[in-house]
Amino acid sequence: MIEDKNPQRTTLGALGEFGLIEHLTKDVEINQPTTIKGIGDDAAVLDFKDKKIVVSTDLLIEGVHFDLAYMPLKHLGYKAVVVNVSDICAMNATATQITVSIAVSNRFPVEALEELYDGIRTAAKVYNVDIVGGDTTSSQKGMIISITAIGEADEEDITYRVGAGSTDLLVVTGDIGAAYMGLQVLEREKQVFQVNPDNQPDLDAYTYLIERQLKPEARKDIKLLLKALEIKPTSMIDISDGLSSEIMHLCKQSNVGCNLYEDKLPLDPQFMNVCEEFNIDSTTVAINGGEDYELLFTVRMEDFDKIKGNPNFSVIGHMTQESEGIHLVTRANTKIPLKARGWNALSTDEDQE
Ligand code: ADP
Ligand code: MG
Repeated sequence: MIEDKNPQRTTLGALGEFGLIEHLTKDVEINQPTTIKGIGDDAAVLDFKDKKIVVSTDLLIEGVHFDLAYMPLKHLGYKAVVVNVSDICAMNATATQITVSIAVSNRFPVEALEELYDGIRTAAKVYNVDIVGGDTTSSQKGMIISITAIGEADEEDITYRVGAGSTDLLVVTGDIGAAYMGLQVLEREKQVFQVNPDNQPDLDAYTYLIERQLKPEARKDIKLLLKALEIKPTSMIDISDGLSSEIMHLCKQSNVGCNLYEDKLPLDPQFMNVCEEFNIDSTTVAINGGEDYELLFTVRMEDFDKIKGNPNFSVIGHMTQESEGIHLVTRANTKIPLKARGWNALSTDEDQE
């Protein structure tokens, strides 16, 4: 498991709040032309001229959304940025700035926060967003991170959850389910470690799954790809809570139904092997597991030729009249009503009927 490779411990008290903010943010760069004033005043100042602004916030709580037993702090910082950038991508917008708010108990030394911030800065660089502010404070127990992402888009490019038509095609990017199985592998190794701390896990067979869980990426490439293909999705959402739950959001808000086809689900071979090893149904995980941060969107039927055969996209179903309901069509060609069971669904013994 993840060990403390950095035995040096500087207490937070030694730096104080302002010293800590200064220490964590001293290397923060400003690259976006829309950033007029970043860190250092009472508020950041941004100028987007005639663009529309999109804003999204997420809150991550230790013990609820992440477990530091297997989540290295650098990865946590990176992921905290990614999940917010993903929400901006799901609006078909481009992320430009973030603010970073952190609360920590004095259990964490300065070096731990440096690692966290290292991950945050790395992601900011990769996604080309400026860190323009935040807040730093103490908590009685554990770590809390809240990131707000700001993005820009032309009004006509923005995609909402509402907008899917009843004959539109349903499309997903990348592959799904892997992040959930990565978490199962990490949970298993954590339990092994608790029994035998000398055990060195061999995780070679699981690298893709673990990476999908610990170091997900947001699909900032999709906006550009869609633009190049001259496609504007009629609706879009990111897959954070699981495919089934996100399909229900699109259907409810757009007043349409949906047929999702089991045999069209894009699954990675490593994912399928590990589902077999864990004796868990790959379709159940693919539609209910969360945290894949892929994009789910609908397009008009006439756009099919533009996306067919593109390795970034899988057409996994089509929308229907609302009265037809929301169904999974199995390989055996039976129709099962989809349920939004979300992220925790798989921890119950219920089977996918
Ligand atoms: P205030 O008293 O207005 O809350 P602070 O002293 O908390 O101001 O913050 C000073 C500056 O540092 C502000 O620009 C704030 O946005 C920024 N800041 C504070 N904490 C962070 C952080 N964790 N990451 C980035 N910027 C931060
Ligand atoms: Mg403050």
